[in-house]
Amino acid sequence: MSLSLSADRPAIPAVADDGVWLECIECGETFAPFDAVRYTCDECGGLLEVRYADLPTFDDFEGQGVWRYADALPLADGVTTQEGATPLYEVPRLEADIGVEALRIKHEGMNPTGSFKDRGMTVGVGVAKELGVGRLACASTGNTSAALAAYGSRGGMETLVLLPAGKVAAGKIAQASLHGARILEVDGNFDACLDIVQELAEAGEAYLLNSLNPFRLEGQKTIGLEILEGFLADYDAVPDRIVLPVGNAGNTAALYKAFRELVQAGELDEDDVPKLTGVQAEGAAPMVEAVENGADEVRRWDDVETRATAIRIGNPVNAPKALPGIRETGGTAVAVSDEAITDAQRDLAGEGIGVEPASAASVAGLRKLRAEGTVDDDERVACLTTGHLLKDPDAAAAAGNDPEPVPADTEGVLATLASESSPDR
Ligand SMILES: *Cc1c(COP(=O)(O)O)cnc(C)c1O
Ligand SMILES: [Zn+2]
Repeated sequence: MSLSLSADRPAIPAVADDGVWLECIECGETFAPFDAVRYTCDECGGLLEVRYADLPTFDDFEGQGVWRYADALPLADGVTTQEGATPLYEVPRLEADIGVEALRIKHEGMNPTGSFKDRGMTVGVGVAKELGVGRLACASTGNTSAALAAYGSRGGMETLVLLPAGKVAAGKIAQASLHGARILEVDGNFDACLDIVQELAEAGEAYLLNSLNPFRLEGQKTIGLEILEGFLADYDAVPDRIVLPVGNAGNTAALYKAFRELVQAGELDEDDVPKLTGVQAEGAAPMVEAVENGADEVRRWDDVETRATAIRIGNPVNAPKALPGIRETGGTAVAVSDEAITDAQRDLAGEGIGVEPASAASVAGLRKLRAEGTVDDDERVACLTTGHLLKDPDAAAAAGNDPEPVPADTEGVLATLASESSPDR
């Protein structure tokens, strides 16, 4: 099976260009990477993966950020605003409170547009330039549109984004808007937006930059590479587990691919691969359902709801790549309530780390799995926080303290300070 951890290095097909090609994960058909626009397999419609003749070792990486890992990417450089190289924060209070050996927060909100989507776009928009396409497009719960608008404008290209009307956080729309995307608000949910934009792409109207695009996931692999390098530097060992929020499951697929390539390169022992642990909101948990039922396919949820709007997704397109990742690494998936997500958002804020609701799902999930005993107290864990607090100012304000009105004199301020504060918690 091509997606197993122990798979041999692939033979190099004739279609390879400079040692890079696309391969169908279902039927194994191979395609030249840059000769035509293609998102899925021509033969069977399966998802495609980028494959390499040469896989790099840790020694091959140099520089900072996503392009430090150029030897693991399909291009030598892309359209960049210095994405990646995000912090791997220590959180001693939260670590003790949850009760694990070590807990680190990989804060992807510290990317240029405030989410990990930048890592995918620097590669994906770079490939779009290579292919010579005109308009770029995506469906988005918000962050993909912000990143696409920014990277598209940096690359001098036209961008189109389809958003579910009324379900995108304010900061994200503001970004897409100012970076000059054409914004279409669709009277439907994210999954409906993605259906439409896929049809537009197939009709040749635009180049698709959702995570169905295999090149985007290559950029997102670098999250895993940075986490591993950070843990190796600090603990002389890779993490036992990586916990991450799951929407379309692009990151889950990308991290798994990063680990498979390290195993194939002889850089990582198969038994040491971190357990990939996905977290969804209870109201949008089709991947959790599939993992719990041991199903090979994910059932599409037509009605999804959660205040974590970035993961309000009922049809995770990368499930065929991500489910093997969760299983083969010995990981799991768990659903958490919106209340638990908000509590985790406050916990992180209490350590000085500001994240949007979807991001906090990772910490909420870890807490739940630790309480259940699925996660052991001797584990070293990395939680991924995917987006910045300022992405969703309304959620932050609702979760935080209420401002108190005071008169414009010191006595009035002192009187208010002397009274019981009334935080909204
Ligand atoms: C896109 C996004 C996710 C979902 O990531 P997938 O790779 O689609 O699973 C989670 N959190 C935030 C903040 C996002 O922007
Ligand atoms: Zn195929």
